[in-house]
Amino acid sequence: MLSHLNTPQREAVKYLDGPCLVLAGAGSGKTRVITQKIAYMVQQCGLEARNIAAITFTNKAAREMEERVSKLLGKAEAKGLTVCTFHALGVRIVRQEAKLVGLKPQFSILDSADILQIITELSGNADKATAKGIQWTISGWKNALITPAEAEKLANDEATALAAKLYPAYEKTLRAYQGVDFDDLIALPVRLFDAHPEARERWQNKLRYLLVDEYQDTNRAQYKLLKQITGDRGAFTAVGDDDQAIYAWRGADAENLNLLQKDFPKLKVIKLEQNYRSSNRILNAANTLIANNEKLFEKRLWSDHGLGEPIHVVMARDPVHEAELIAMKLSAHKFEYKSHFSDYAILYRGNHQARLFEQQLRSHNIPYVISGGQSFFDRAEIRDLMSYLRLISNGDDDLAFIRAVTTPRRGIGAATLEALGTYAGTRNVSLFAVSQEEGVAEHVAARQLEGVRSFGAYITALANRAHKEPAGVLLEDLLRSIGYEAWLMETCEVREAQSRWRNVRDFVDWLTRKGEQDNKTLHELVQTIALINLLDKGNEDEADAVQLATLHASKGLEFGHVFLVGVEEGLLPHQSSIDADTIEEERRLMYVGVTRAQRSLTITACERRRNGGEIRMVDISRFVEELGDGTKRVGKDDEPISKEEAKNKFANLRAMLGPK
Ligand code: ATP
Ligand code: MG
Repeated sequence: MLSHLNTPQREAVKYLDGPCLVLAGAGSGKTRVITQKIAYMVQQCGLEARNIAAITFTNKAAREMEERVSKLLGKAEAKGLTVCTFHALGVRIVRQEAKLVGLKPQFSILDSADILQIITELSGNADKATAKGIQWTISGWKNALITPAEAEKLANDEATALAAKLYPAYEKTLRAYQGVDFDDLIALPVRLFDAHPEARERWQNKLRYLLVDEYQDTNRAQYKLLKQITGDRGAFTAVGDDDQAIYAWRGADAENLNLLQKDFPKLKVIKLEQNYRSSNRILNAANTLIANNEKLFEKRLWSDHGLGEPIHVVMARDPVHEAELIAMKLSAHKFEYKSHFSDYAILYRGNHQARLFEQQLRSHNIPYVISGGQSFFDRAEIRDLMSYLRLISNGDDDLAFIRAVTTPRRGIGAATLEALGTYAGTRNVSLFAVSQEEGVAEHVAARQLEGVRSFGAYITALANRAHKEPAGVLLEDLLRSIGYEAWLMETCEVREAQSRWRNVRDFVDWLTRKGEQDNKTLHELVQTIALINLLDKGNEDEADAVQLATLHASKGLEFGHVFLVGVEEGLLPHQSSIDADTIEEERRLMYVGVTRAQRSLTITACERRRNGGEIRMVDISRFVEELGDGTKRVGKDDEPISKEEAKNKFANLRAMLGPK
């Protein structure tokens, strides 16, 4: 079974005497070590799958790992294994220990838009930029486990002082809604385990061995959670690469690599040096590039995949030309090498770059999937329905109440909501709860009272059914009762309404399937959806399609042929990083992009790009130079050919090749 591993990988898999860190460059088989180690522990060491947890960076990575382990072990032996993100693990802990943290198990997980709304209200309608700033600051504190009291002392300028002032009220509001934010999913378990050793012990007994992928991008709170769960035993394996730390802006802290060595003096550190992913040209370029960063840990990578093709660097006139060139090159390449669309990826720095590529791919009939864009679950129509599901699940969720009661409009206006809100405030209960009380009649106009009452009664009826009936059936019923399709037709333009309705149907299918597959209750499904984030989007689709992704979302993945686009000063490295002098993180981002490629890598840059309404000349990125001499500039004069010409060209080729 261990024959698919090299010597240091095998050592990492077999090492169970204490904490273990696999510190190695891209494509060296770190993730493979984790999957193999799970199988090894179950098959050879008698550990039970239900006592093992593997932590991945995205839900998608979790699904893939679960599949792989199932193949190695078989479904029966893999049963009960936990493979999920830190946040998903947090949800499980909070759900199970809800009482101890003062929540109901059906707590709501509020997303970024909800949070922004709460902060805007608490701050007395601050503008969007200010509210977002406050949101970031508070989130940063929570990731670093800083309490409101501590934050108050830290505030040394006006902006942070404002955030510190709102922080306690913000926490209070969340709890009043029986809601948590994303950061709470880590911070609450950490506080819980600090305060309740017996709960910590429960989880230590349940999760006897922990494996963590992409360790370099954990934050302080996640590290603490890891320490609490593994306890003195230090029963864990972490794998990571400091050169791929790209989430500092979201509170990740590569210092956690050093902390591990300090906190666990017996830590076994294993390095892997053979890369199994890329050709040597690609690997050398990546090594040369990253050598420009100050080194934390010395690493060298080699591969026996041969030298491979030079890295192509293509200059385009502007972003439209760039997208045209890539669609053309991709089609031609695929035809020539008889590859699959899924062998290709187009990677970029910012989401806004995706649109032009989508247009060109569509016009060339090239199928694609996109990750890192607007999430399916962020769409207005899905959020509408989610507000109902959240409310059914948790009557204290005032945000969900407000959205649900006003969508579709049922004659309940701002004045009614305000009156309800005031009354609820004095009684210290939720909007939903007061809407069911007798006393509400004194506060709400009789005409609207009927609407409020029947809405509340309907939600209560659904909540009662939620225990017995599948989520899909309830949603189907809900759509019919609220006349959602008709409402879409009334309020949107026809095509828009149709497209939204299609999304709704997809959502119903998804919920039905998920409910059956995982045997999950409505509450659990609602919490699962809240966790599906931007990085996961588009991945349910296994079709043969080109992958479009941000560099951040491409972590851990690999593709035969990679197009790294917009490699320009100001974009990669991003202007804000040039200004803030945080080039090293941008270089790591470039390193992540380069090392996704197995056989070929094409880098493109534009001569001109629109920036702040103005079209400006731009320079090719410094990182291209830093790749060393394995690159080759090609096609500076490449002109995109028209579809007609392309057709003829392929027709000629086909004629030359003869019948199949
Ligand atoms: P990244 O840093 O990008 O996350 P990684 O270190 O996790 O990369 P993996 O994704 O585990 O690397 O492995 C890269 C590729 O090499 C995968 O296709 C994997 O199946 C393959 N691989 C890993 N180890 C071996 C091995 N010993 N023999 C053959 N192939 C291997
Ligand atoms: Mg990996």
